[in-house]
Amino acid sequence: MTTHFKLRAYGKINLGLDVLRKREDGYHEVKMIMQTVGLFDQIDLFKSGEPGIRIETNLPYLPVNENNLVYQAARLLMEEFQIKDGLNIRLRKLIPVAAGMAGGSSDAAAVLVGLNKMFRLGLSEEELMNRGVKLGADVPYCIMRGTVLSEGIGEKLTPLPPVPQCQVLLAKPAISVSTKFVYENLHIDQFSSEEHPDVDGMVHAIEKGDLYGIADRLGNVLEKVTVKKYPVIEEIKDYMRRAGAIGTLMSGSGPTVFGLFVNPKAAADAYEELRYGSRRDLARQVYLTNIYNPKR
Ligand code: ATP
Repeated sequence: MTTHFKLRAYGKINLGLDVLRKREDGYHEVKMIMQTVGLFDQIDLFKSGEPGIRIETNLPYLPVNENNLVYQAARLLMEEFQIKDGLNIRLRKLIPVAAGMAGGSSDAAAVLVGLNKMFRLGLSEEELMNRGVKLGADVPYCIMRGTVLSEGIGEKLTPLPPVPQCQVLLAKPAISVSTKFVYENLHIDQFSSEEHPDVDGMVHAIEKGDLYGIADRLGNVLEKVTVKKYPVIEEIKDYMRRAGAIGTLMSGSGPTVFGLFVNPKAAADAYEELRYGSRRDLARQVYLTNIYNPKR
């Protein structure tokens, strides 16, 4: 049995995020296009003779106890399958935290997939997804990865053809946005039909492999709440557009903004400016990556 596994937990962006209505039970019915990007957290799993789960991470402010999603993912499978070995988890975070990129959910997904292999549990992808949803609504998607239409409260997943390759510039301003705040201040019944993103049109553009069609239809209803409170989000979008992005959007409940670029030089220049240059005031974390599509 292999005693060390190296895993990559990839982040996601939302190419489309629409909220259709608030249900009686308080959940929001959504229609989202999820896309995995090349930025990932590195996770090492080490089997240990000493019982228990131990976590080590490069970010001192992240919990290393049962509040960390990697702990919860490991405990879920180890309890169910009565695994008596211990587990050491080394988590090297690169995906911005609390940023709308599902970093924690992706870490949890990677640990479920990794432990399934390490302990030869024999669970199918679907069986892992059914367990993952107990840890968070985005976890099943993070197990599936790639280009996916997500509906219901995020649990109904339909894989789509891969989005054409392009460069993705990510910029997270130095603010924290609580997902709870965003949804509480979203009054979706007051949105006109033009204010909803064209998610169906986006699906068609993806099916045709039309990157410009995709870029034209980027839309996220949550921006209406966040941009009002944090105008820096719109400033970053403006900057990326002027720098040559074919489309820009806030991901999830924010505050990370992404820009899609087809010109690598323009993308690299914009990265330099935001990271080190005259516009470094706009964002605290800046990454240049690409679209990531797993083999299906
Ligand atoms: P989403 O896109 O699903 O809204 P997010 O990017 O907003 O996700 P995360 O980075 O996944 O948010 O984490 C949010 C909170 O969860 C953090 O405040 C952090 O303390 C806690 N957390 C627990 N485990 C992790 C983890 N492995 N990585 C990051 N955050 C974690």
